[in-house]
Amino acid sequence: MKYLLFLPLVLLLVIGCRPGAKTSVATVNSPVLSTNVWNMKDKVIKTEGEWRQQLTAEQFRVLRQHGTERAFSGALWDNHEHGAYVCAACGLELFGSDTKFESGTGWPSFWKPIADGHVGATEDNGFFMKRTEVHCARCDGHLGHVFDDGPKPTGLRYCINSVSLAFAKRP
Ligand SMILES: [Zn+2]
Repeated sequence: MKYLLFLPLVLLLVIGCRPGAKTSVATVNSPVLSTNVWNMKDKVIKTEGEWRQQLTAEQFRVLRQHGTERAFSGALWDNHEHGAYVCAACGLELFGSDTKFESGTGWPSFWKPIADGHVGATEDNGFFMKRTEVHCARCDGHLGHVFDDGPKPTGLRYCINSVSLAFAKRP
């Protein structure tokens, strides 16, 4: 009877040790990812000091302090190249150029993230407005907001700060 108590523990160890769960992690310096899959185990967690060191002052203000860049001031709202938009802080692929559209807002706008689980969302009730904040699911870097006035097929508009993104050009 006593040994039965160990059974769940043994099962847990066996399940936890199974191989093949690892994914590759890209950085901003090498934004071409070999896979579009990432694992919660690969979450990027850094101290405020580490982020300050890695990011520019404007990137830190937007990504880590939920700031917003001025409309039409960013480098990517008018970018029409073919490629992937990756997180400027950790390199995770967030959006593809095939879902970018002209929103007229002065911020890069997309109707869908590049893959499930790459862009996280939280309710944001600041400034007396109910909005949905979106962030990089891997490093929690603030990206912008998502609204429900976007184009088909999703009807969503991911309104993203240029400074939160890096662009990886693809043929
Ligand atoms: Zn990130």
